Amino acid sequence: MNGPLDPSAAGLCASCRQQQVVPTTRGSSFSLCRRSREDERYPRYPRLPVVRCPGYERRGEEDVA
Ligand code: SF4
Repeated sequence: MNGPLDPSAAGLCASCRQQQVVPTTRGSSFSLCRRSREDERYPRYPRLPVVRCPGYERRGEEDVA
């Protein structure tokens, strides 16, 4: 992916609490799925946009750092 991560390009992941945006030294960023750490069904870096995901959890106000 080139350039900063466009939230709209990530689909469901953009609003999922399992998403972790990982910046690279080249100024771009990747969308990492935290579920991949414990569940091999989820790729570490899912192919975007994700349009359907059984593990989706909507990010709430409490998750905003
Ligand atoms: S659980 Fe699904 S929607 Fe959430 S970050 Fe992972 S792949 Fe994206």
